[in-house]
Amino acid sequence: MAISRHGKICSFCGTPGGPGTDLPLVGGLGAQVCSTCVDDFHALLHDENQLAGARGSSPWDTMSDADLLATLPRIIASAEQNAAFAQEWVGLLRGRAISWAEIGRALGVSRQAAWERFAKKSGDSSATA
Ligand SMILES: [Zn+2]
Repeated sequence: MAISRHGKICSFCGTPGGPGTDLPLVGGLGAQVCSTCVDDFHALLHDENQLAGARGSSPWDTMSDADLLATLPRIIASAEQNAAFAQEWVGLLRGRAISWAEIGRALGVSRQAAWERFAKKSGDSSATA
């Protein structure tokens, strides 16, 4: 199974990006970050005044209720994207014939628990491999 950034969103701002868009995404462990957020974070991390301000409070401390509500669907979309990435990753492992027992061991759960979590969604019914 090929893992692609196609159809993904930036995990930090929620903007769709990746292949087929003008917004490059990079990332790891399921999180994606767009070039705009990289530039913004880079500027923040290299400006002592901005960095000091960012250390003082969390962004949500000053957000309006409307902004907090508007952010919730973006948080859920990012979480669902990460869950889908984990599913794709397990598909990658299964494509390499990694057993459910090994996947379970990596997660600290039984083979059966790993299979129940991931195989049902992927349609991989080979519980014995
Ligand atoms: Zn972004």
